[in-house]
Amino acid sequence: MSTPRFRIEATDGAARAGSLLLPHGEVETPAFMPVGTQGTVRALSPFDLEAVGARMVLANTYHLHVRPGEDTVAELGGLHRFMAWPRPILTDSGGFQVFSLEGFRRVDDEGVEFQSHVDGARRRLTPERAVEIQWALGADVAMAFDHVVPGGADEAAARDALERTTRWLERCARRHRALAAEHPGRQTLWPIVQGAGHLGLRQSAVNSILDLGDWSGIAVGGLAVGEPKTVMYEVLETIEPSLPSAVPRYLMGVGFPEDLLRAIALGQDLFDCVAPTRNGRNGSAYTPDGPLNIRNAAHRADPAPLDETCDCETCSSYSRGYLRHLFVADELLGLRLLSLHNVRFLVRLAEEARRRIAGGTFRAWHTEWIDRYNTRGTK
Ligand SMILES: [Zn+2]
Repeated sequence: MSTPRFRIEATDGAARAGSLLLPHGEVETPAFMPVGTQGTVRALSPFDLEAVGARMVLANTYHLHVRPGEDTVAELGGLHRFMAWPRPILTDSGGFQVFSLEGFRRVDDEGVEFQSHVDGARRRLTPERAVEIQWALGADVAMAFDHVVPGGADEAAARDALERTTRWLERCARRHRALAAEHPGRQTLWPIVQGAGHLGLRQSAVNSILDLGDWSGIAVGGLAVGEPKTVMYEVLETIEPSLPSAVPRYLMGVGFPEDLLRAIALGQDLFDCVAPTRNGRNGSAYTPDGPLNIRNAAHRADPAPLDETCDCETCSSYSRGYLRHLFVADELLGLRLLSLHNVRFLVRLAEEARRRIAGGTFRAWHTEWIDRYNTRGTK
């Protein structure tokens, strides 16, 4: 198989239903990708991921580089074999992690020097290294190395980081082309639109990316990092008309149910977030009536499933009363069962959005869905 292929099957307003063909399989969009930071989606096995309908997962370059190292992963057959996930994988470039680390960090045009969170050793990531590491890992989609600034960064700081990100993108693309020359179609590289909450910068980021070439996908990064939600929606609305319609758009780090639906309405196709598994491990479960805290005493003797509309293992087999017992007794199974349900919830939400887009009823449906989710409130 050569380059990835993306086909739009239906649209409803700016929302799109499509199909993305990658070296390790097909992904119907919109789609939610569970996050396997360390080459594992916490508390879930690849068999669980298959069962909940996940078709593509994300892994993290920084974490796998620091431990166990990309050479070890390559020796063990590459990331797909290493983590026993045969379907598509996307690796984040490490930019976001390096810029979120506490402690020492020095940025210049060459790259970033930082301190490993595992052993404190000084390490250096450059655009070329980030591409080489991702090539060794062997994911279907690699991300360009970017300079990420906090959501509330002022315009000068955001512009400086954006200009550096653009220079780094050229270097990433050059290195990736050289590696791919010998194995065309093995992996594709996607750029990341940065610019914090500044609409002018976001627009110029899109223009610079498109000036640098044809891409098989485009990501939007640096959102959902603490800025007001309205800023994220404004950014997406502003750039949507100038994003090429023929390639998938990936909104990085977004995965709360309402945000997912609003972003689909604004033309985004792929999403990832640690929230469903992190919240699941904390006893918080998504339901169509808003999040539910399973530790709540009200669930002590409740025979009902977590979410009666859900078809996952958790909801088809166990009562709220039993799930609450697992959390109160600190049993590991509880962590798995709530994580499993939350991932299934977002996968199903994207699947339903896809059906609604195909049927031309997405816009009305997604507004009603969000109203119900917000008005029933936390239980
Ligand atoms: Zn469920």
